[in-house]
Amino acid sequence: MKIEILKQAVMDSRDGITISDNCIDDNPLIFVNPAFERMTGYSFEEITNINCRYLQRNDRKQPELKIVHNAVKKGEYCLVTLRNYRKDGTMFWNELSISPIHDENGAVTNFIGIQKDVTPRMIIQQQLRDEHQSLEKMKIHFEQLSIKDGLTGIYNRRFFDTQLEIQCKIACRNGDSLTLAIIDVDHFKSFNDIYGHQAGDEALIRVADSLNKSFQRGSDFAARYGGEEFVILSNGMAKDQAALYVKSLCQRVRDLRIPHSASSTGYLTISIGYSVHTFGPLHPSNVLLAQADKALYVAKERGRDQFFSL
Ligand code: GH3
Ligand code: MG
Ligand code: MG
Repeated sequence: MKIEILKQAVMDSRDGITISDNCIDDNPLIFVNPAFERMTGYSFEEITNINCRYLQRNDRKQPELKIVHNAVKKGEYCLVTLRNYRKDGTMFWNELSISPIHDENGAVTNFIGIQKDVTPRMIIQQQLRDEHQSLEKMKIHFEQLSIKDGLTGIYNRRFFDTQLEIQCKIACRNGDSLTLAIIDVDHFKSFNDIYGHQAGDEALIRVADSLNKSFQRGSDFAARYGGEEFVILSNGMAKDQAALYVKSLCQRVRDLRIPHSASSTGYLTISIGYSVHTFGPLHPSNVLLAQADKALYVAKERGRDQFFSL
């Protein structure tokens, strides 16, 4: 092939082509083609005889620069994408490959650099990453919405129903006990009537928050079962421990000291029905619920602000 054709190919290439001289101190550029001049805004005269690191300006902390540095030191090939700056100061993404040229003794005499402005591709990739991130955030948000109660922020009934099934199976398998407490706010209709619906909402939030902070075990959780009713599922408690625990729940709500003039204590209270089961091979999630519900009825009958188990 004629040397003229080779020369023309380099001059006409749409990619920037540079050659540096490794035999001179600091490896300066000794040739740049017109595409490189167009890409960077620098003319051949302005940038030959200096090292091409001026293209990074002060943006020298790019991790890929280490790769370039090592490749040049070892006389090896590398491919990187760098933030470079044109003569007018604007940034562009430069996909740069560096290849060593050897003399007959194997010493590296020069490096040839092939450079592509890949800014549009990098912008699209960044946009895709951003979109992916915000989709992930939305997904988590919607997942949370589907299992959390909108007013109180604790779990909702849907979550409770699925968890009850799961926890029952686990308890059955491990021979663990499971405690289900149904908690109902006393005289809440009259609370709304006296203090207004907004105050009622705020009271429910405070009660939910207090119940939600009452657990001793990581697997325990509270959910809003509906209206002014909550449920708590806790595993591993013996009957006497369960009794002490639900007693402490009643006290927690008393301690909130939410005034309620229609309550005999003068404050908002709760009633609790609970059931504790140590499971055999059967799967009694509905039994657990029914028993706690019956027990709640008894606690209400007996005057409220108390707990009961059948
Ligand atoms: P008891 O002591 O027998 O439980 O009496 P109660 O008044 O609490 O029972 P009832 O079931 O008659 O009334 C429940 C009330 O809870 C009625 C309803 O207006 C109120 N309620 C249910 N959900 C909400 C809510 O999200 N916000 C407010 N503010 N009130 C609610
Ligand atoms: Mg109720
Ligand atoms: Mg009630």
